[in-house]
Amino acid sequence: MARDRHDWMHELVQRRAPRRVESDTRLVLLGTAGGSAARSTRCGFANALVVGDIAYLIDCGEGVHTQLSRAGLVATRRFGSTGARPVVETIFLTHLHADHVMDLVNILQGSWPNSEIDVYGPGPAGPPFTTHEDPLHPVRFPDDPAPGVKGVLDHFNRAFGMNINARIIGERRSDFIDQLIVHEIGLKGELDTDVNSIELPISIDRLGPDFEIPAVEPFVVRPEDAHGVTVTATLVQHPPVFPALAYRFDTPHGSVVFSGDTTPCDNVVQLAQGADILVHEVVDIEAILGRISLLSNFEIVRAQFARAHTQVHEVGHVAARAGVGTLVLSHLVPGEGSHTPEEWEALAREAAPEFQGEIVCGIDLDEFAIGAAH
Ligand SMILES: [Zn+2]
Repeated sequence: MARDRHDWMHELVQRRAPRRVESDTRLVLLGTAGGSAARSTRCGFANALVVGDIAYLIDCGEGVHTQLSRAGLVATRRFGSTGARPVVETIFLTHLHADHVMDLVNILQGSWPNSEIDVYGPGPAGPPFTTHEDPLHPVRFPDDPAPGVKGVLDHFNRAFGMNINARIIGERRSDFIDQLIVHEIGLKGELDTDVNSIELPISIDRLGPDFEIPAVEPFVVRPEDAHGVTVTATLVQHPPVFPALAYRFDTPHGSVVFSGDTTPCDNVVQLAQGADILVHEVVDIEAILGRISLLSNFEIVRAQFARAHTQVHEVGHVAARAGVGTLVLSHLVPGEGSHTPEEWEALAREAAPEFQGEIVCGIDLDEFAIGAAH
């Protein structure tokens, strides 16, 4: 059905207001749309976990820099005391699809961090990117077809060399690049050697785009830090992307898990056991068929959605098996023009009556208290 160019305004004003909490330990949904298509009512996928006066950022989709501001968070101490505004000290990237990293560059160039920021995420992808042989669809940049977080940051920063050096020369700014501490997660032998590495204790054949991720025990990527937060991770099923990660944050007050982009995945179920909140991606393939049906590669795209994402009738089962308290639907595809938040919740609920917890379809800037009131 054709949409009027003003339909998004009606959709937005009819939506409930974002949830607000007063808790010092809280989850903030900065952006709740999945994918990189332009949207009018949701920003790209990003989340903040606030613990007292600091914040952890989980993914950096389109709009995250603006959304940090709207959420009362900052990514620099450059202007002195931030007062009541928690500062981003750590960034976690679930994987390196554009809709999860697009505005990381905006945070760095715009906020110009002047204190250390740890950045955790995947190392170089390796096969099938480095082994792909198809004369009709050859890979770009065959010498380095899928760099890891370190490479992505280097490319981002070099692209803005003029801006960076203009600030250094003209304003005598200190260089923010030295503040970035990169931690790459990946397989032994595939990681950059000059960054902090977290090696996965598995081997896996990635001969083509359809590989299966094996069962993995959750592994610690950040031992308990000064704020009492421990971060563990697991591998998820999002081929051909590798590694694609889910993260769990255990805080002094409770726990939050982010599925990343994945099909329903036993590794996520294990990682999320007993968590207070599970933020899980969700797609309604039927609702996007009308938009993608004109593509010449329609069937391939449709199959790719099915093998790399979780459908709305599947997500409740994951939450039930994990025994989480609250299931938050986010990374919504389509992000608008299909279901209201209440309809997303009903679709998930009806398909998984065994899930006894709360189901909330996220909207941008929703806040959730972690654990009991404190
Ligand atoms: Zn995504």
